This record gives sequence, C-alpha cells and structure tokens, in this order.
Amino acid sequence: MPARTGKQYLEKLKKDRREIYLDGERIDDITEHPELKGAAEAVAHLYDLQYEYPDIMLTENEKGEKVATAFMFPKTKEDLWKIHKASKLWSEYSAGIMGRSPDYLNITFACYASRTDVWRKYGEEEKAKNLENYFKYIRDNDLCLTHCIVNPQVDRSVPEAMQGEGDLALHKVGETEDSIIVSGARMLGTLAPFADEMTIYPSRAGKGIRPEDTKYALMFAVPMDQPGMKLICRDSFSKKRDTFDYPLSSRFDEQDAIVIFDNAHIPKERVFIDGNTELYRAVTDEVNWGAYIVFQAMTRALTKLEFLFGIGHMIADMNGVNAFDHIKEKLGEIWQYKELTRSAIVSAIEGAKENGVNGVLVPDARPLTALRGCMPKWIPRSIELIQLIGGGGFLCTPSRKDMQGPLRPYIDKYYQARNKSALEKIKVNRLAWDFIGSDLAGRGELYERFYLVDSFRVTMDTYTNADKTAEIALVKRFLDQMVLEEEKELV
Ligand SMILES: Cc1cc2nc3c(=O)[nH]c(=O)nc-3n(C[C@H](O)[C@H](O)[C@H](O)COP(=O)(O)OP(=O)(O)OC[C@H]3O[C@@H](n4cnc5c(N)ncnc54)[C@H](O)[C@@H]3O)c2cc1C
Repeated sequence: MPARTGKQYLEKLKKDRREIYLDGERIDDITEHPELKGAAEAVAHLYDLQYEYPDIMLTENEKGEKVATAFMFPKTKEDLWKIHKASKLWSEYSAGIMGRSPDYLNITFACYASRTDVWRKYGEEEKAKNLENYFKYIRDNDLCLTHCIVNPQVDRSVPEAMQGEGDLALHKVGETEDSIIVSGARMLGTLAPFADEMTIYPSRAGKGIRPEDTKYALMFAVPMDQPGMKLICRDSFSKKRDTFDYPLSSRFDEQDAIVIFDNAHIPKERVFIDGNTELYRAVTDEVNWGAYIVFQAMTRALTKLEFLFGIGHMIADMNGVNAFDHIKEKLGEIWQYKELTRSAIVSAIEGAKENGVNGVLVPDARPLTALRGCMPKWIPRSIELIQLIGGGGFLCTPSRKDMQGPLRPYIDKYYQARNKSALEKIKVNRLAWDFIGSDLAGRGELYERFYLVDSFRVTMDTYTNADKTAEIALVKRFLDQMVLEEEKELV
C-alpha cells in the first residue's frame, strides 16, 4: 500500500481495539472521543499533506511505490534537504507543538534499518533480518509509531534493573517457541492513543544496563492492540476546548501515556534485541541515531522558535511596546536562537558524511548535538521573554461566549490595540497564551526540557564525547612556542 491519506489513517484507528484508559475510562473509539478526536484529526491532516505536497513529502520504495520521505535512506545532500523540508512542512501545521509527528519514528527506524550491520557485528543475524523486514512493513503500510524507551521513575539512584526490586521496569519473564513474554512498565508514549504501533528500543538510559541485566535488554515492536499491553493517558488538555478560546489545545494535544505489559507475548519476528546487553548498550551510539533524530527534532524546534518570534513581534507591535529598547533586545534574543538553529541545520546537512557501510549519508552530529543541549534552555527562555513582552494582555481575553454576549460593544471599545481591532487583538493573545501559558503550553515546555533527556546530561555528554584533538593541538602549538631559553633552564 502506498503512503496513506488521512481518511485511511482514521479508518484503521477507528477499528483498533487497544486497551487505553483516559480518566478511568477505557476508550472505545479514539476518533470519536471528545478529548482525543481533535488530535486524531490533526494527525490525519498530516497524512493528507503528503498528497498536497508530494514532491516534498513522498519518495519511492524499491517497487516504485510512493512512500513517505521520512523513510528514505538519504544518499545525497538533496535527500537530506528533502527530509528536512518534509519534517518542516509537518511541523508547521501545529506550530511545532506536535513533537511526535510520525516522521520522528519513521526516521528512527530508517536509521536502524540502514545500520543492521551493527546487529550483525554483535552476532544477531536473525534480529537484523527482523529489523529489515519490520522497517519495510511500516514503510510500505505508512504506519505511525510511538515509543517508550525510559523505565518508570522509581529510584533513579540505582541501575535500571534494581528499580523496585527489578520487577517494575520492562523485562522478559518467559519464552515460547514463537514469542518472548514480557512484563513491566515504561514511560512515556507521546502520541500513544493515535499511533498504530508501540516500539521499545534502547535510549541513553540503556547505559545503565549491566552485562548481567539480560532480561531488561529488549527491543521490539507491537501493534497498539497487542494483548497484554495497557496504556494510561495523562489528563487531556483538549477537554471542552473551543477552537476560538484555545486554538491549539483543541487540536494538537498529542497525549502522553504510560505503557504496562502484563505477560504480553511478543512474536519473535518482531523482536530486535533479546538479552544482548552489549548490543543494547551500543545501539544508540553506533547507528548514528542521535544525528538523525536530532535532525528531525531541531527542524521542529526551528518552527517553534519561528512561531515564538512571530507572535512576540505581533504582540509587541500591537501594544506599541516595540518602541522600547529592552523589548527590541528581547525579540532580538529569540531571533538569535532561531537563526542559530537554522544555521546548525544547514551546517549538519552540508557537513554530512557517508556512514562507511552502504553509502547512506549521516548529518554532521556536531552542530545538532550542540543544539540538543541548548534547546531545552532556549525554548523555555523564549517563552519567558514572550511573557515579559506581553504582560497582562494574555489574560485580557474574553471568550467566544463573551464575544457573543451583551458586553460586546464594550469589548470592541476597550480591548482594541493601536493597530488592531479588539477581535484581532484577542485572537493574537489567545493564540499566544495557548502556546506559552495554557496547560498544553506547560506540557510543551516540559516536553522541550526532557523529551531528548535533560540538558544537563546531554551537555555533559557533549563534553565527554567531544573530539578534542584539534583544540588540544591548537593549545599545544602555543605551548611549544613558549619554550623560551629561561624555560629550558626550568626543565
Ligand atoms: C512531555 C514529555 C513527553 C515525553 N515523551 C516520551 C516518549 O514519547 N517516549 C519516551 O520514551 N519518553 C518520553 N518522555 C520521557 C523522557 O524521555 C524523560 O522525561 C527523560 O528521559 C528524563 O527522564 P525522567 O523524566 O524519568 O527524569 P529523571 O531521569 O528522573 O530525571 C529527573 C531529574 O533528575 C536528574 N537525574 C536523574 N538521573 C540522573 C543521573 N543518573 N545523574 C544525574 N542526574 C540525574 C535529571 O537530570 C533531572 O533533572 C517524555 C517526557 C516528557 C516530559
């Protein structure tokens, strides 16, 4: 089947019988649920965009069928530009709010499938084939994936396997001829109600897997209606939301859910790591996952920064505060973050190199890794700057019902801006509030701080993993020049 349309996506979601709970209620039909419907339709719209912009959004598989660009193995810089443009288009639909648009995991699995040599290096021929087959399956059926790669927060001060006496984190509990049996929980499947498949794979936390932790070293994928798999959603932020009052929450709450496996039988052809702790620890580093996924993630972050700059400027301009130097400086700061992000993406594409295995290009990880550490600070900082620019205006926001009520003439008079009508001004402030201040916005800020692991650990890693050769050589050159006559005497 070629790339899906929104209608095809919704039809499959409607038939699905996953065991997913929201506020104590098992959801029967996600596409009809008042608190989930809006985001389901938003994901469907992303699929429709594939046919509105086929030159950007679609490529071909080996059989000549049209498949999503994000599944591509990039062989040229033009391919990387195309992947970037496709992610950019999708991210713009939600102003970057939907962090887990399907391209996020499409790119992840394209990355894995292009580096199954790593599986073979660690003696896993059969699992390598499973991964290659699974990749073709999701690509050719244009499936939407979620992932849970972090064990639940129980006691972070001990290795993963020791949390809650070893029984809480996801682990293998048994095996049959054709499946492995797993139990335990993982966090925090963003997009879980809307995805077709749940994927489990190693993350940075995998570094906490010791050689003896074989039963925790797992990588697999299952359909969302997998028997024995249960999901619990957080509160919905699209609850009773009017599109005028909450233009973003009403449509783009992509949800987050804890997944619990209770003696779930995972078919062996869908298992990619089963107990190989060496491979589990190596996967994230050796397959260049970081470079690919941060490439997608920073493309979306660029959209968010563009939106923050745009809305900040609009507020400052309509309130006349952009006459003040410190407001200009605040807007300039957001613009700088935006431009540095754009430049890092260009640099990552232009500095891309072949992976040394099969001619697939890997974006230059250095500028992306730097951004990965900065973005959890830059986006919250930009949100703070918007608050400082907008002041109390975010709360001078009559609702749709107020606008339809008896006080409308007063609203039109007293809510006007210097260059905008009251209605226009209220719309801008409501949009901005839903981006920086509503409960969806609060979740968005937390997302930016944590979804790629927190900035502290990422920044620490950038120092640890940095290639320091050139910089050490530079300093040494100066040290060598400093060998003065007097110094020789000191030796
Ligand atoms: C909105 C949102 C959506 C998410 N979506 C997904 C998803 O779709 N899939 C998924 O798998 N995950 C998802 N996550 C989870 C994300 O991967 C984790 O939040 C992240 O890895 C951090 O783990 P944690 O939340 O358990 O925090 P913790 O690891 O408990 O960290 C909390 C604090 O303790 C510190 N800390 C913890 N351990 C150490 C240590 N060893 N050394 C030093 N400091 C430490 C951290 O620096 C941090 O400040 C999401 C998170 C959020 C907030």
